[in-house]
Amino acid sequence: MTKILHRTIGTNLPRAVAGEGIYITDSEGRSYIDGSGGAAVSCLGHNHLEVLQAMKAQMGRISYAHTSFFTTDVAEHLAEQLVELAPEGLDYVYLVSGGSEAVEAALKMARQYFVEIGKPQRRHIIARRQSYHGNTIGALATGGNAGRREQFKPILPETHHVSPCYAYRDMQMGETPEAYAERLAAELEAKIIELGTDTVMAFVAEPVVGATLGAVGPVAHYFKRVRQVCDKYGILLILDEVMCGMGRTGTFFALEQEGIVPDLVTIAKGLGGGFQPIGAVMLSEKIYRAFAEGSGLFQHGHTYIGHPIAAAAANKVVEILKRPETMTNVIKMGDRLQAGLDAALAQSPYVGDIRGRGLFRGVELVADKDTKQPFDPVRKIHSKIKKEAMQRGLMCYPMGGTIDGVYGDHILLAPPYIIQPAQIDLIIERLAAAINAAVKS
Ligand code: PLP
Repeated sequence: MTKILHRTIGTNLPRAVAGEGIYITDSEGRSYIDGSGGAAVSCLGHNHLEVLQAMKAQMGRISYAHTSFFTTDVAEHLAEQLVELAPEGLDYVYLVSGGSEAVEAALKMARQYFVEIGKPQRRHIIARRQSYHGNTIGALATGGNAGRREQFKPILPETHHVSPCYAYRDMQMGETPEAYAERLAAELEAKIIELGTDTVMAFVAEPVVGATLGAVGPVAHYFKRVRQVCDKYGILLILDEVMCGMGRTGTFFALEQEGIVPDLVTIAKGLGGGFQPIGAVMLSEKIYRAFAEGSGLFQHGHTYIGHPIAAAAANKVVEILKRPETMTNVIKMGDRLQAGLDAALAQSPYVGDIRGRGLFRGVELVADKDTKQPFDPVRKIHSKIKKEAMQRGLMCYPMGGTIDGVYGDHILLAPPYIIQPAQIDLIIERLAAAINAAVKS
């Protein structure tokens, strides 16, 4: 009997005993293609020799030094690498140990920024209903996934939500992407006015939505309009790239494709590639200066921030991501994945939408393609697909839940960037078979 409180109690999980490249092997000797990188984490696959060597070398130097006493070469180098890669305007880095921690830190930076500049009345957070920003209290309050929030609502801080940018379901017949973006920007502006223009501190969004829907990118102009609205009212823009960042969508930061620069950006998952738990917040000079010239302190901190072994792993991951062939493969294999999914699934009466960017792709399942009617939630189609896929040696990331009153089943694919064409084809073949089996059951 297990003594671990597993997320889903009573399931008989296979035991992972080895990982190599894009494969994980269990204790029964079964092999699984890591088609989702776990949860969009393992961007370089498993057992990557260069990363392991970098970690080992760091362990031989120093494994841990508390950040109130010391900085380290590896942490400093990681910050330098990230600033060099980021669009101009994201000038400083705060290292943490994961995605939720990054979101919590970004929210507190936004709040402290306004306190430091003498605007303590700014306290409201606006985010989007179609979103996931983590599971800690502040991050959960910020996210807009009703199912995950429901029982914790009484203990969550107050936050506010506006509509997602979700063209498949929300863009109206005959509406252009520009008009749709305009409508969403107007909704955000109306929410700001409703709350009081000098009381809102931040708007939070994922550039490409991951864990609630599966790879839903914005329409053109959406983030440009969001940036304009935030600027008009002096509100900080926080973009959460915990899942979609680190090259996942074909550019180092997904936000590069939107032509805007946020005030704060959160990253994690692919930053450590699963070799180590690590995340970061990148912030603008404006915020840094407010702290430096104000209290001289960011009133925050966790024991493991800037952990040297995590930083060593991340440095090597980032170094590999910077090699031109890495991103070229993300784009090439991403195109192949989309084309293959289209060919195999677009005609299926149960597949409503296939979308995404780079090696970040989503499939939305529907009971009726014309009306976009989702499956009855009791059927838990997404869970069945996961089970059927595992039986066929494929890991895919299932999502199901109610968003804005509409239930939906989605599958996210986010394989490692080292994937090869034949392996992409195998993912498609196995996923198509799993979907077929799940909808027939
Ligand atoms: N933000 C986004 C966009 C995420 O997708 C996730 C995790 O899926 C998080 C934050 C939370 O990250 P973590 O699970 O590392 O705490």
